[in-house]
Amino acid sequence: MALTPDRILEALRTVRDPDLGKDLVTLGMIKRHDVDGPRVMITVELTTPACPMKEKIQSDIEAAVRGAANEVGHPVDVIDVEFTADVRRPNEKARDESSPLPGVRQIVAVGAGKGGVGKSTISTNLAVGLARHGARVGLLDGDIYGPSLPTMLGLGDIEVTARGSMLMPFESHGIKSMTIGKLVEPDKALVWRGPMAHGAFKQLALQTEWEELDYLVVDLPPGTGDVPLTLAQLLPLTGAIVVCTPQKVAQDDARRAVKMFEGLGVEVLGIVENMSYFVGDDGKEYDLFGRGGAETLAQELGLPFLGGVPITQALRVNSDLGDPTANWNDPALAKSFDAIVSQTASRISMASMQGKLQMPSISVS
Ligand code: ADP
Repeated sequence: MALTPDRILEALRTVRDPDLGKDLVTLGMIKRHDVDGPRVMITVELTTPACPMKEKIQSDIEAAVRGAANEVGHPVDVIDVEFTADVRRPNEKARDESSPLPGVRQIVAVGAGKGGVGKSTISTNLAVGLARHGARVGLLDGDIYGPSLPTMLGLGDIEVTARGSMLMPFESHGIKSMTIGKLVEPDKALVWRGPMAHGAFKQLALQTEWEELDYLVVDLPPGTGDVPLTLAQLLPLTGAIVVCTPQKVAQDDARRAVKMFEGLGVEVLGIVENMSYFVGDDGKEYDLFGRGGAETLAQELGLPFLGGVPITQALRVNSDLGDPTANWNDPALAKSFDAIVSQTASRISMASMQGKLQMPSISVS
């Protein structure tokens, strides 16, 4: 008996996406399942190009197809598994009705309990890392009180341009970005009060010509102020990630940030630990701030831990030079960021496939 495409599809019904917990056929991920003599061709459309489970899915597919081929006595030499990706929208509603940014598929906020923990650093490298996988990514500097993106993305010499009433995002390091830091003098932004902050953030988010994006990462101001509230009311957020350094005091602040998102009805996708440890010239790792503190916090709060980044001079230098792409020239940094990118992308996929779209209606008196 020969192995038929139908028989291959049946075999693929036994292969589950480990994150999404359903089989590939039910999830609509099989885009091709053909056989030509001893060659089997399968195309799988993932929910993110940064999927951390590719290898596992590939080996499970190979095992399932070989099993089916053996059953019917069909010799198979090659199983070509091709991966494509289509970042899904949280649900259909987000496309037309409720989102003021219909071209943007996934919106993720990055928050922190307090300033200086590396929230902008993580936001920037998350955005650049997702783009390195081929995703279309935007980065919105929501930190209107202390915008860091002009420096971190090296936007110094790039001119601001507008088309009609829409601002054109900056394009560098494979991502689109927008920051108030390029529109007003930074010291003026610092004295803004609540209602002005609300208005400025709204304009920045909605009056930027983002066009089609797979991911929009929003770097929030530190703490629990007006901007997270504005964001949660304005845009359908898939979720938020909280950046934390390992010390006990930082954990207390991060816990408050988590509670704030939960209070806004925004799912917390996980916690990232920054400045986990320091690698000295002697190659030894020093746990300056008590490495693992954020992971412990994540466990305590029942949240996913998305990974950690060490303190490195290269990261600080690349950030000051506005060259995040250079972080991928450093193998240890690249590994840390790639792990965070994959874990975050996977959590985004999981949250949106579970239909947990956050669009709370909050009344503020
Ligand atoms: P936040 O957005 O939380 O205020 P930033 O991302 O602006 O913090 O980081 C504050 C400063 O610390 C920046 O100069 C940044 O380059 C530096 N920094 C952040 N994380 C690291 C790290 N892991 N290693 C070295 N320097 C870091």
